[in-house]
Amino acid sequence: MVRMLPGDDVGISLAAAAIKQGNLVAIPTETVYGLAADACNIDAVRNIYRVKQRPFNNPLIVHIASIIDLAKWSIEEQKYALKLAEIFWPGPLTLVLHRSKLVSDLITGNQDFVAVRVPKNKATLKLLNILKNDGIQGLVAPSANRFQEVSTTSAQDVFDSLGEFLGNDDLILDGGICSVGIESTIVDCTGIFAKILRYGYITQRNIRETLQIS
Ligand code: AMP
Ligand code: MG
Repeated sequence: MVRMLPGDDVGISLAAAAIKQGNLVAIPTETVYGLAADACNIDAVRNIYRVKQRPFNNPLIVHIASIIDLAKWSIEEQKYALKLAEIFWPGPLTLVLHRSKLVSDLITGNQDFVAVRVPKNKATLKLLNILKNDGIQGLVAPSANRFQEVSTTSAQDVFDSLGEFLGNDDLILDGGICSVGIESTIVDCTGIFAKILRYGYITQRNIRETLQIS
């Protein structure tokens, strides 16, 4: 059965070890809990789709430690995209960008674009930094719930939703209740103008003000 660990230093280092071994770890973020795997481990990523019962054409968001790491995952970013990242990261804003060679089709649903964000949660940022030092550049982490069910905002909710489908070596990292509790806003930054694809915590007005669009 999946184990639930506190989001302290011991829990975080066990979570890092589990990810490195190709297991899944449910992670706290400020929006909702994510079901995370090494974004470059194809078998682990496939396992996320299986556990969630998510169709393969529904792409995954890559979570990174810092804006500095963006260049590993995307290319040819528009200036306004970098501005949004500078202002809102870490935070509940996901940017869709032209993908780099590091990105597999499995993550993007065969699209040329990848969705990336830096989450704002202490435990998860620490985990991402530990993994980065060990050569793991990002985690895919779709919401930790079964496909089309309600997103989870506590470790117990994750256990109730996915516990029976996760393996003995998978983990749930308990980071308390998610502070925002709703999904990230997704902005398509692949064209000349920003386009909101999914409405979330950051509003259209926040984005317009940041980019000085009237
Ligand atoms: P979830 O993490 O479960 O909230 O779902 C992630 C959502 O991000 C997907 O359902 C898509 O709507 C969106 N998404 C992820 N990758 C892309 C992409 N490459 N292009 C457009 N939307 C994306
Ligand atoms: Mg979801």
